[in-house]
Amino acid sequence: MSFQSMLGIVWDQKFTEIAFSHPMIRDWSKARMREFIKLAREKLTFVEIKPIYADENDLLLVHTREYVNKLKEVSKIPYLGFLDDGDTVHYPGIFDDILLVLGSSFTAIKYFKYLNFIYVPLGGFHHSLPHKAMGFCPINDVSIVALRLMEMGEKVAIIDVDAHHGNGLQYILYNKPILKINIFAYDGHFFPGTGKIDEVGEGEGKGYNINIPLPLGSADDVFQRSLEILDLVEDFRPSYILVVAGVDGHKDDQLKSLELTTNSYNMLGLRIRRFGNKSKILGFGGGGYGPMSALSMISFLEGLLGRKTYYEPLTYSQNKYSIEKIEKIILRFKGLSNFFS
Ligand SMILES: [Zn+2]
Repeated sequence: MSFQSMLGIVWDQKFTEIAFSHPMIRDWSKARMREFIKLAREKLTFVEIKPIYADENDLLLVHTREYVNKLKEVSKIPYLGFLDDGDTVHYPGIFDDILLVLGSSFTAIKYFKYLNFIYVPLGGFHHSLPHKAMGFCPINDVSIVALRLMEMGEKVAIIDVDAHHGNGLQYILYNKPILKINIFAYDGHFFPGTGKIDEVGEGEGKGYNINIPLPLGSADDVFQRSLEILDLVEDFRPSYILVVAGVDGHKDDQLKSLELTTNSYNMLGLRIRRFGNKSKILGFGGGGYGPMSALSMISFLEGLLGRKTYYEPLTYSQNKYSIEKIEKIILRFKGLSNFFS
């Protein structure tokens, strides 16, 4: 195996103590990180990369000065509170943790000199908006990194497969010529409620925003079919692909919305691996709040390394029209192939 095709994982033991989620599930978030690193060391060969802290000014690529000041202020409050209406917490020292999380991606960018696949397990905060926290996300690290890469002259695509629509990512990058493909659970109400297929971007970003809403309760069969949309990434020919590989669509997740198994995340990894010849791949852990979260993350990485795994039986969607629905949506977007090439 060449060095280039090896996997890098950005890791700091502090990740097992950092959680921005609701108090009821903070312990789950921390347990997920502990379990992840244990499994990763058992099952994977990887280069461990120690993150360095980002600078406060890096946050300003996306966030307002007022909001960054607010994050610094709440970091001094000696007790736990909420940054928003009751989803995302603040706690003493949160500002340093935020800079470590963002610094993880920036550190990864430096290591792409040596590696083609790098994973940031504690990252992929795709709900936060420029002026506020949302959905367990105090910042929007993915869009900050995407804009930094654009500044560096890179051509960027984002694949976001978390169970929840990446509303913050879509909003912040809506007018940017960054290909954004979002696969998520949707019924018009499920959090955050955004993600219609006709939200296609505007200005220079028109045609670059692709939403593939999976009916609630969709299983491995529908998810696997939805991955066909990723053919568009080949036509786009990005130098960097950011993948929010959120695992909260697993059937055993506490925030249940989909019926996926570890097989879906493994399929995703295998599919993304094919892009590794031409693009640098930066993966993020995204969401995941259940007993199978860590193994789902590992399954994704095993796919990225070209290994097919089978930890549990495949699931099939109850709604027989779901696959048909997804096929129609994919067909609608396939016309963009000429637009990109
Ligand atoms: Zn999520």
